Amino acid sequence: MGARAKLAVWKFASCDGCQLSILDCEDELLALAGEVEFASFLEASSAVVAGPYDLSIVEGSITTEHDVQRIREIRAQSKRMVAIGACATAGGIQALRNFADVDEFISAVYASPEYISTLADSTPPRDHVPIDFELQGCPPNKHQLLEVIGAFLHKRRPTIPSHSVCVECKRRGTVCVMVAHGTPCLGPVTHAGCGAICPSYDRGCYGCYGPMEAPNTDALSARMAQLGSEEIDLVRVYRTFNAGAEPFREASEAHERG
Ligand code: SF4
Ligand code: SF4
Repeated sequence: MGARAKLAVWKFASCDGCQLSILDCEDELLALAGEVEFASFLEASSAVVAGPYDLSIVEGSITTEHDVQRIREIRAQSKRMVAIGACATAGGIQALRNFADVDEFISAVYASPEYISTLADSTPPRDHVPIDFELQGCPPNKHQLLEVIGAFLHKRRPTIPSHSVCVECKRRGTVCVMVAHGTPCLGPVTHAGCGAICPSYDRGCYGCYGPMEAPNTDALSARMAQLGSEEIDLVRVYRTFNAGAEPFREASEAHERG
């Protein structure tokens, strides 16, 4: 048997939920541990093995100058780099600062704002270094995570569907909450992966998996407006975990302009 691949997991500005998704793989992790050496994974162990690494998995967004330096150093040590979760693919919920004045927040929140050193925006790692693959979701689906890791170990492209949550509703036979009840739902523009959890509990999707490929936000916004959503509702609906994702950012700004 050849040497095990060196896998490292890195955290930036985030809630650690994506790393917990990796730990949530439980049984599969044992099989994975036979193929990879977890060289750095602080959520699981304080032991860190020096690089270079065959695969680096990055959670979190870049919010400080120190983050910028760190992601560059990690990229230089990594043959492949995969970004996972809403923070690492769209800037996360902390990208709400991108629509406001961060200095105003700092002076309102901190007693000694002079000690705070932060960037004006929260951005995904791909704005700073090349990224080989991005896996969306807040947090990502564990089966998709295993597919991505397995694909990189076996040097093939991950098979991750690019369709919307609506397809998942149809597959599980869930009645559409928007058609049946007029409930606003971001499912038509949201990337699949969760299995349409929210509509299956009679709730609209709020887009935690981020935008699907080529989403038609104009058509969805028009339908939600017909159902009674005001412009401010439409701004808010696109400004949650994936507010910084390009299609959602553009849609929210268009409704903000009115
Ligand atoms: S409930 Fe939402 S995600 Fe499901 S089919 Fe309807 S619009 Fe699409
Ligand atoms: S918000 Fe949408 S993408 Fe997120 S779990 Fe609910 S249905 Fe899935």
